[in-house]
Amino acid sequence: MSAAAIIKADGLARRYTKQRGLFRKPQLVTAVKNVSLSLARGETLGLVGESGCGKSTTGRLLVGLEQADAGSIAFDGERLPQASDQAWRRLRMRIQMVFQDPLAALDRRWTIGAQVGEPLDIHAIGKKGDRPDRIKALLADVRLRADHAARYPHELSGGQRQRAVLARALASDPDLLVCDEPVSALDVSIQAQVVNLLTELQEKRGLAMVFISHDLRVVRQVSHRIAVMYLGEIVEEGLPDDVLHEPLHPYTRALVSAVPQAVRRSERIILQGDPPDPAARPSGCPFHPRCPVARPLCAEQAPELRDVGGSRNVSCHFAEDDARKVR
Ligand code: SF4
Repeated sequence: MSAAAIIKADGLARRYTKQRGLFRKPQLVTAVKNVSLSLARGETLGLVGESGCGKSTTGRLLVGLEQADAGSIAFDGERLPQASDQAWRRLRMRIQMVFQDPLAALDRRWTIGAQVGEPLDIHAIGKKGDRPDRIKALLADVRLRADHAARYPHELSGGQRQRAVLARALASDPDLLVCDEPVSALDVSIQAQVVNLLTELQEKRGLAMVFISHDLRVVRQVSHRIAVMYLGEIVEEGLPDDVLHEPLHPYTRALVSAVPQAVRRSERIILQGDPPDPAARPSGCPFHPRCPVARPLCAEQAPELRDVGGSRNVSCHFAEDDARKVR
């Protein structure tokens, strides 16, 4: 990547302790393992994978809502401070997050205008007298009318509520927006509107954006690069057309094959079994119990995410061999 990174994460890991009953020893669950990524201004990284693959935890680590057990995050060249620090509070206005459920993200007792304007008060942005105009401009940016400011969340549709959440996230003029399944709770017809709006705002404001979703079609629309996660790790990363048209990792091939419009081959790859319990990670390659092309080495040795050329990183011992065979 040539442009300077606004956010750069190196070797992130996040583990949780899972209680398994009163008399059993707690288990250590690895939610995120050795995740490295970097993102320039104006760039969108799509994070995809099945539910429980660690993409949301990665998003929360990037905005500082969770602390990594290992690894580091640099924001605009400086190490991301601890969430309790004064420095983190100052930085918070430059990093915003949008969640899946807009109704849960909004306070039902407050008007939309009050909630969109709240970050302006918290971060003491602009003059008090200018607030109504600023709120009106923010609402217009997300295609809401000025009269929506006086309404309450339950008086808006799902799409309008998510746009109000977006207006609030943009109020502090952030450099980085992390969107966690921002359109998953919306009707398909509304999803396209919100996705187009996000793309437009991102271009207009030069935002860096991490777009987390299980939906490859949506991720493809908004992303400049895509990272595919499996069991807490990035297994493939590259340009959307490369990853979706010529997937090199067997897991990516299975994901892509489930989306008829995106797939080049007609054959659907059905993975056997469910994703493994993150508390009992398989040996070697974490994908080997489900991998249709696994070999003996796969159970013994974990592959590393490596540069396979063409701006692509893949974590598979046999990425090049198998890709050639299945094309
Ligand atoms: Fe499959 Fe082996 Fe590659 Fe893992 S390393 S994805 S098990 S072929």
